[in-house]
Amino acid sequence: MSLREEVIEALIKAHIPSPRLEADIILKHAAPSYPDMSQEERQNALQMLKRRLNHEPMDKILGYREFYKSVFKVSRDVLSPRPDTEILVESALELIAKNEVVKILDLGTGSGCILLSLLKENPQAMGTGVDVSAKALEIAKENAKALNLLSQTTFVNKSWTEPDFITETYDIIVSNPPYIPTEEIATLSTEVKDNDPLSALDGGADGLKCYLEIAEIAPSLLTTGGHILLEIGYNQAEDVIKIFENQGFKLVKAVQDLAQINRCVILKK
Ligand code: GLN
Repeated sequence: MSLREEVIEALIKAHIPSPRLEADIILKHAAPSYPDMSQEERQNALQMLKRRLNHEPMDKILGYREFYKSVFKVSRDVLSPRPDTEILVESALELIAKNEVVKILDLGTGSGCILLSLLKENPQAMGTGVDVSAKALEIAKENAKALNLLSQTTFVNKSWTEPDFITETYDIIVSNPPYIPTEEIATLSTEVKDNDPLSALDGGADGLKCYLEIAEIAPSLLTTGGHILLEIGYNQAEDVIKIFENQGFKLVKAVQDLAQINRCVILKK
């Protein structure tokens, strides 16, 4: 049996979806000239396979993931960028006119994938990425550097619950905060619950804790007429809209994903 066949069979046995695709990703990464390979390359491929059989997600094994139009470094210190979140990026881009000098604030920036994707499309925009995790911000900074965006970006290692944590105002706030209700976390796949940081998933007892916190600070962080765009859980649109309406925001729209689930809400101050 070839190494490729061996890898595919092991992935199938472990019920990993897309075993052929993943086998090819492993071989391309570990042994780029496969089937020509050194002993070391073979060992590296088997090591990657072992990690994947333990349900570590492929992006965390590779150390990078594609999101929107760029490749982002990832680690266990950041939530892996999800395709769903590209909806938030696309929605925010629709709000920014070409060459507009906008200021963008990303609350809980993690890998920086949302903020940096927006800045890359808008060379005149300036962005601030906030995260309570210093380790996450290290990754975000590396991504900003790799994408040549350091001059457009400021990173702030604070919790948004600290009083006066930022005193500037912004035209756009984006956030994909933790929104999974605490007791649902145990039901998530191993790939997610054991490999994404808990602090990026856990949205408190009802999953809405961060939206309440953000709704309190958002009015003083936004310019008049400014927008806030939030990723939300599959059943949270109504609650999140209400939370922000209570703080004087007006709903612009909820944006659905391809499965027609509300994924993102846009509100205006
Ligand atoms: N979308 C992620 C998931 O379902 C959760 C991300 C988050 O809480 N912001 O695993």
